[in-house]
Amino acid sequence: MPAVIAHRGACGYLPEHTLPAKAMAYAMAADFLEQDVVVTRDDELVVLHDIHIDRVTDVATRYPGRAREDGRYYVRDFDLAEIRTLRVTERLDREGRPVYPGRFPPRTGHFGVHTLAEELALVAGLNRATGGRTGVYPEIKRPAWHHEQGVDITVAMLEVLTAHGYAGPEDAIFLQCFDAGELVRVRQELGCRLRLVQLIGENSWEESDTDYVYLSTEGGLAELAGTVDAIGPWVNQLYIRGAAGQPPRSTGLTERAHEAGLLVHPYTFRADSLAPGFGSLADMVGFFCSDLGVDGLFTDFPDQVRQLLNGRADGR
Ligand code: CA
Repeated sequence: MPAVIAHRGACGYLPEHTLPAKAMAYAMAADFLEQDVVVTRDDELVVLHDIHIDRVTDVATRYPGRAREDGRYYVRDFDLAEIRTLRVTERLDREGRPVYPGRFPPRTGHFGVHTLAEELALVAGLNRATGGRTGVYPEIKRPAWHHEQGVDITVAMLEVLTAHGYAGPEDAIFLQCFDAGELVRVRQELGCRLRLVQLIGENSWEESDTDYVYLSTEGGLAELAGTVDAIGPWVNQLYIRGAAGQPPRSTGLTERAHEAGLLVHPYTFRADSLAPGFGSLADMVGFFCSDLGVDGLFTDFPDQVRQLLNGRADGR
């Protein structure tokens, strides 16, 4: 059965990357909980999606005047003690409106930012208390940018992961990154034995030298297979919409990746923001799992995806 990867926790129901969102995803029987990781001014690793902190916290009102010239507030400009004073909100857009209006009410509740170590301790504690073996799925965010800011995020993350017992390919973890050069470094230079995932975005998305168009070719995937265990492509890279009334079809990327020996873990499956051409989450999960045969799914709604996968396993 494909792995259910709780994207930023059960963020369809609670603000992304908060510990409550992670505990909820755990209770919804996700196979893996995702952590995006960025670094504070005092070199602490915190679980946040972006190097900016203004779309998910009250930083602008709590620390006015601390934005950079571009008007954005950066995690790297605050110590962990300051970050801990912030209130986390459901994600807002540039105008301060909720990105997903049907989700948890913005600017309500009592949520904060936590460290990578604190989240790993939560997962270990829940695994012990329940007898479960839920895994973690941390992402090294913007390693080149962090390097420019004077910190080696990758080495810092590997130290914390090792300290929490994540050491080899048999452990319940996938380590992910958009930056292909950094993943080569992780494997070859840093000697990391964890399972690795090359995220595949649009060439215009990330400020790294990674060429996702090339990596998606047969040659690129063969090269990747020398370093990583899986690819994590944007869902739109795996299918082509059918003409009116026609079913979607594969772009061939899933098949090429499997041919190269790579697992395929696409992102993101959202009940309230379906990929173009799908009428329901069930249709979308059905196409990706039955027609394409992907090996895992990043989802904001781990309970719904789990239920759909269980239904397929029962032959319904
Ligand atoms: Ca991520």
